[in-house]
Amino acid sequence: MTEMKAPHECPQCHINTVKRLSVGIWLCGTCGFKFAGGAYSPRTKLGEVAERAARAGVTSSAMAELKAEKARQVEAEAKAKTAKRRRRKPKAEKEPDKTIEEKTD
Ligand SMILES: [Zn+2]
Repeated sequence: MTEMKAPHECPQCHINTVKRLSVGIWLCGTCGFKFAGGAYSPRTKLGEVAERAARAGVTSSAMAELKAEKARQVEAEAKAKTAKRRRRKPKAEKEPDKTIEEKTD
């Protein structure tokens, strides 16, 4: 996808100087407008939600929706990265020296 590297249009000043800061975070190089958008493109369904939320004054539910969606994107991206690399099994927690306490009634 070249979409990721190409500058995007700023929703505020409409100049194509929007760059991706990090996953889902976009910054306009002209007016400095920073906003949440998609992981690879600022214009997504999520971005529209963010825009609407920003205009409405950001409701907590919208922010929660954004955070949840962003977390999913970050997770998906992380999974895609790790899938390409060698798969690592998560380290199992070391068993404590003591045997697990049994519940006594
Ligand atoms: Zn701008």
